Amino acid sequence: MERTYLMIKPDGVQRGLIGEIISRFEKKGFQLVGMKFLRLTKEMAEKHYAEHVGKPFFPGLVEYIISGPVVAMCWEGKDVVSVSREMMGATNPAKAAPGTIRGAYAVDIGRNIIHGSDSPASAERELSIYFNAGELVEWDRSLQAWIA
Ligand code: ADP
Ligand code: MG
Repeated sequence: MERTYLMIKPDGVQRGLIGEIISRFEKKGFQLVGMKFLRLTKEMAEKHYAEHVGKPFFPGLVEYIISGPVVAMCWEGKDVVSVSREMMGATNPAKAAPGTIRGAYAVDIGRNIIHGSDSPASAERELSIYFNAGELVEWDRSLQAWIA
C-alpha cells in the first residue's frame, strides 16, 4: 500500500489545527502508521528542503520550519501521495481551492500549514529523514473486536 510523508508545519501547530488536519485524513479513509511531535534541527530542515537550496525563499523557509514544533506523520492508503496533495491544495494558499486545507486555513505562501510529499520517491526519501523502519506501525483497521 502506498505511503506518504505529511507534516503539520509550525504555523499549523501554533494555530491549533493539529486535530482538524489529522481528522481530515482519517475521515477520508487514510491510515496513520507513524507520528512524532518534534522541532526540526537546521540540518534536518536543509535535508528536507534540499531541492530548494539556492532559491530566494530558501533561508526564510528553513527559518520558518524550525521556528516551532511540527507534527511528522506517515499515512498509508490508495494513491495517498496524490490524493493528500489534492486535499492540501495549491502551494500558494491564495490560489488553493476553498475546501482544501491550505484554501481553508491559510493566506500566505510562506505560512501554508502543511507539507506533503510530491511523489512516491519523495515520500520514501522524506520518511527516512523522520522515521526508522521500526517506528512505522503495521496495523489492521478491520480488527474491531471491542465493538463486535
Ligand atoms: P509544496 O509544499 O506545495 O510542495 P514547494 O515544494 O514548491 O511546495 O515549496 C516548498 C515550500 O516552500 C512551500 O510549501 C512553501 O512553504 C515554501 N515556498 C515555496 N515557494 C515560496 C515562495 N515563493 N515564497 C515563500 N515560500 C515559498
Ligand atoms: Mg514540495
